[in-house]
Amino acid sequence: MFDMQTIKKPNNTKIVITVGPASDNHQMISSLIDAGVDVFRINSSHGSPEKHQETIKLIKAISNEKKCNIAILIDLQGPKIRMGQLKEDILLEDGQEIVLTTADKIENQDIPVDYKNIVKDVKPRDDIFINDGKIRLKADWVNNKRIGCTVINGGILSSRKGINLPGTEVSTPAITERDKEFIHFAAQNDISYIALSFVRSEKDIIQAKQIIQSYGKNIPVIAKIEKPQAVERIDEIIREADGIMVARGDLGIELSPEKVPLVQKMIVEKSNIAGKPVIIATQMLESMINDPIPTRAEANDVANSILDGTDAIMLSAETSVGKFPIQAVNIMERIAEEIEKSEYYKDSLKFLMEHHTDRSIDMNHDIAISNLCNDLDIKAVVAITTSGYTATVLSKARIKFPIIALSNQAKLCKELNLFWGILPVYHDIYSVEFDDKSLQDISNKITTETFLNKGDKVLFVAGLPYLNSEKTTKIRIFTL
Ligand code: PEP
Repeated sequence: MFDMQTIKKPNNTKIVITVGPASDNHQMISSLIDAGVDVFRINSSHGSPEKHQETIKLIKAISNEKKCNIAILIDLQGPKIRMGQLKEDILLEDGQEIVLTTADKIENQDIPVDYKNIVKDVKPRDDIFINDGKIRLKADWVNNKRIGCTVINGGILSSRKGINLPGTEVSTPAITERDKEFIHFAAQNDISYIALSFVRSEKDIIQAKQIIQSYGKNIPVIAKIEKPQAVERIDEIIREADGIMVARGDLGIELSPEKVPLVQKMIVEKSNIAGKPVIIATQMLESMINDPIPTRAEANDVANSILDGTDAIMLSAETSVGKFPIQAVNIMERIAEEIEKSEYYKDSLKFLMEHHTDRSIDMNHDIAISNLCNDLDIKAVVAITTSGYTATVLSKARIKFPIIALSNQAKLCKELNLFWGILPVYHDIYSVEFDDKSLQDISNKITTETFLNKGDKVLFVAGLPYLNSEKTTKIRIFTL
């Protein structure tokens, strides 16, 4: 049973966390949901499909129990290039000359790389970054299966570390065979979102959608922006994708760190104008992998990402392998709460929205309903929706009231959980008139399952007839 007095109004900013060995058990998943997680991310680069399936089952069961429409996102590894298997760690000194090789049989002091085409893609003078950019090499010569390099920034090199080739046109396909297997896996397991890594153009999204459709499913695709080519084609990518992730880890290496803050703001703005959900990812609370509190700079980063107008903020290693997953989510929630209640945030959202509507003719026809909501004396807007259209319009207009998205589409409820300010509620109804009886029935449902209480005034909004309209056509103020 729900105790209506104790259900807290959720924050508008959504939290995505990466699940891993530190968090993939029943107790942690349950506590993380209670702490405020909206979306669980499964990183296909790690763990086995069998283990992922177990985790997915757990998340779904706990989410059902709590009636909270938790979404699951599978992040595809994409064409990630890695070092080969080393006999032992190698200390690379600045100025040292080394040889990378793609040969199966390793000779001399050569260091193996597991991507055969690196010798075709890399040219002399290209940069090669290893281990999140911590080690930097400069290619001097390329010869058959070997690349001679000078170490620019040294460090300890270990097996299977990731390689980035920022200035190089990489010839691997965007969707690898392994990714295709994981798309199949996602389709079989009714996953809410698929995130595509190292997207280079909108063609990658189109191809991913075709593969998803070939399995008879329609799973929204999130484009991870982590390549300079993707930044160059951002408008086309946003147009084709169902959501965007600012994947700052690889982006910071591929572009360089000082470029990331403004690229982040640009991507958030363009995604909001296009009405697509946007996630800010990576190193948000990095120090909390080992420490129970964040650095002040990290707290600022979370706050500033919220102020930029993002839908969601994401945790990676902090929750997958870190020592303090719950504390990391708690601090994100507390920062979001603090920022969201400030006049500064309200002003900044107002400014962003005015700015967006100046730039988007498409948004203008939806703005009237958003303005109307903002002028009312209500506790929430209840959008009755089968397509999600009405709820996402209100979300993207960043209205000042919580948006309850009431839908008979279980899949949609989970997808909507990624959008700013939307609290999805599944309701098994197949026709809704705006008469007292129907609205009373909905009222009972939402006062039991959400923070709303009897006596609260809400605005009901729906595209009617319920099952086949995309446009908002009916509104009514109602006291629950
Ligand atoms: C990133 O690079 O920021 C990112 C989210 O991708 P991954 O964690 O898969 O490297």
